[in-house]
Amino acid sequence: MAQDLVCGMAVDEKTPVATVQYKDQTYYFCSQHCKEKFKEHPEKYVERQASDRVHHH
Ligand SMILES: [Zn+2]
Repeated sequence: MAQDLVCGMAVDEKTPVATVQYKDQTYYFCSQHCKEKFKEHPEKYVERQASDRVHHH
């Protein structure tokens, strides 16, 4: 399962509702709404995912 970086939901990459190509990666989203939010600030969501692996608040 892939993860929707906007809302955190698990998304089946075989039947995604929405996908975005960003920096040679495919990102999967549960809805067009999450896709549009990602496209507004993709770097914010990608960075947050990377930093979540290291930091716990
Ligand atoms: Zn979502």
